Amino acid sequence: MKITDAEAYLCHFPLSAPFYPSWIPGVPQMNNSCLIVRLVTDEGIDGYTASVGFLNEMKGVPELLKLFLIGRDPFKVEDFIKVFRSGKAVGIRAWFMDVALWDIIGKATGQPIYRLLGGYRKRVKAYASTGEIREAGRRVEDVLALKEMGFGAVKLRIRSESIREDMEVVEAVRDAVGDSMEIMVDANQAWPVHGFSEYPTWDLKRAIETARRCEELEILWLEEPLGMYDYEGLSILTASTSILIAGGEMNSDIYDFRELINRRCYDIVQPDVTLSCGITNGKKIAGMAEAAGLTLNPHTWTNGIGFAANLHLMGAIPNCTYCEYPIEPPGWTPEARDIMLSSPIRVDSEGFVNVPSSPGLGIEVDMEKVRAHGEKIL
Ligand SMILES: [Mg+2]
Repeated sequence: MKITDAEAYLCHFPLSAPFYPSWIPGVPQMNNSCLIVRLVTDEGIDGYTASVGFLNEMKGVPELLKLFLIGRDPFKVEDFIKVFRSGKAVGIRAWFMDVALWDIIGKATGQPIYRLLGGYRKRVKAYASTGEIREAGRRVEDVLALKEMGFGAVKLRIRSESIREDMEVVEAVRDAVGDSMEIMVDANQAWPVHGFSEYPTWDLKRAIETARRCEELEILWLEEPLGMYDYEGLSILTASTSILIAGGEMNSDIYDFRELINRRCYDIVQPDVTLSCGITNGKKIAGMAEAAGLTLNPHTWTNGIGFAANLHLMGAIPNCTYCEYPIEPPGWTPEARDIMLSSPIRVDSEGFVNVPSSPGLGIEVDMEKVRAHGEKIL
């Protein structure tokens, strides 16, 4: 089999309400923006993938990648890994392309990706991953609505100026749900996007104090409490607290994760197969984490195609405990997140998400919507 062509669309699917991500304070998101790529093979099987974009910075990427892809056998994924890794040298993020190869391999073999890579589970317990900093009263209402939908766990964002403001929200939610829900908190300190609104940069002492307060409230994990390369601070923090410390969505490749795992920076590593490493390396990182007795719960906050890709890694491996389910109405709903799919990925009444069971990614990309909201750039 050979890759014969590639097609790419730069899409800006409008949201029905603005979304204010805690990780880029001061920049409301008006669109679900992404680059959607379709690889075509000589056997009539095509593979899809998507990368997030802010504006149009991914515009030249498909043309450059096409140079490396055409004529190659999509089954030779390890050859491609070297190609994607070299993307860093020319200033592009290319890991998301690994997903399209696995989509092709799955369709060619008639198997969903997760079954080709380990086939560990058909469904994953989900947590509702919120995305905005909101005041306590409103957040309690949100969480009660999520509980009503079937979620047994929720992740809150904490990125206010003071620990007092951060913990006010967490305490209010714990008070409201009691022990009927697991609660995680995410400080997004490894997202160093400066230049818009101010936000606090945590040091080790603030992280340790926040972890201590989280212990009192029986929080399941504290996510991204320090910078992405603060290996030493992270390992001191993780050793100092009884709650779990999670992170890694902004790190990349097997080498960053080797450091994070060997230095025991995190109890839970969170690579994203479209941002950090590809599915191929995601499986390798899961093996390194498993050997160290650690959990791998992928980051998923990109779009429906990226979410599906990460679900296959969750389904493949034994050491995944939770599926991140991005949801923050009214801006970021399952419908808006997965608008490029024929139907959104849902959580069931027991709070689980099924791993797609059809061959490849097991999703149907709605090309009509992609063409309606996308500029064809390749
Ligand atoms: Mg996160």
